[in-house]
Amino acid sequence: MSNKRKRIKLDEQKAKQRLRRLAREGRLANGVEMPKGAVAADLSQQAPNNSFAPPFFYSDQEFTCYDCGAEEVWTAAQQKWYFEVLKAPIYGRAKRCRACRQAHRALQEKSRAAAKQPEAE
Ligand SMILES: [Zn+2]
Repeated sequence: MSNKRKRIKLDEQKAKQRLRRLAREGRLANGVEMPKGAVAADLSQQAPNNSFAPPFFYSDQEFTCYDCGAEEVWTAAQQKWYFEVLKAPIYGRAKRCRACRQAHRALQEKSRAAAKQPEAE
């Protein structure tokens, strides 16, 4: 066996060992390595999509609130719930902090109610 061939064989073994170790540590999600603290995605629970690369796992994401500019974290667990329970589109992203989200929703409900009864009184 040539040296080159030996080296390839060794690399393959190392890659396999690495995958086994990651699987043991619970850090494999749908065949890909995920960072510490990430949560594996259940692809069958995501909204139907034709993406070649749907999120295989979720990890905490920092974002800036669209309304008040606060620095917030969209946690891995929140994302899993958002995409797999609410079935949100997989390209959806967090936009508002909790307080602004509630204020925004209240405003929407108010305008919806107003639209329904334009001639109350
Ligand atoms: Zn905000």
